[in-house]
Amino acid sequence: MHPDLPKLLDVQVKDRRLAELDTRARAIFAERATLDALLERGRAEVVAAERAVNDTARRRDEAEQKLATQRPQHEKRRQRLETERNPRVAAQLLADVELGRTILAQEESEWVRMADDVNARTVVAALANERVAAAEAEQAGARAVLDGRAAELAIEVASAQAERESAASQLDKTLRLRYDRLRKSRKNEILVPADNGTCTACYTTIPRSQIGPLQAEGILIDGCEMCGAIIYVAAAVV
Ligand SMILES: [Zn+2]
Repeated sequence: MHPDLPKLLDVQVKDRRLAELDTRARAIFAERATLDALLERGRAEVVAAERAVNDTARRRDEAEQKLATQRPQHEKRRQRLETERNPRVAAQLLADVELGRTILAQEESEWVRMADDVNARTVVAALANERVAAAEAEQAGARAVLDGRAAELAIEVASAQAERESAASQLDKTLRLRYDRLRKSRKNEILVPADNGTCTACYTTIPRSQIGPLQAEGILIDGCEMCGAIIYVAAAVV
């Protein structure tokens, strides 16, 4: 048996473990992202609701300022009407005062509508804020559990990485380089057992010229001609 075969298989076992841990890390990340997305939606609702409050309040205040200048003008005309002796001018003033009163009444009721709108939107914004606070409180437990899982996982990853490094350091340098390169480029496993003269990664028949070396060494370091997997004989390592 080739002396590097058990070492390579050992590295592959350690890499399998690292891949499992990576899957668990991704799951934690995805769960956190789901919680974050929920809060972000709520926070966006708060921002929109508060913007609506500010916009409506600004329009209400503008209407109020307009009323503040119109009321004394109206009052002045009303007073002039009381003292006006010329009937023609008085008739014109009366028409102006009545029109002014109608306009003021319309604008005042418009102001009331805006003030009600501000109140209603303030309630909406407060509710949106409450929902976010409630969601944050509700998530606290789940987040604590996730943090705990992440912390445990980090310890496992650190020890798995150390074990992998120590296993890989046993390999011949060139072989390690090749293995690591294959690890980056291949989605599937790097070392695959031969089965009935075929590569079990791509099911290509191993050339007759390579069967001899494979049986002698228990491994084809050069790899499968088709897919690059390093082929070994399972029986060689039992
Ligand atoms: Zn293959």
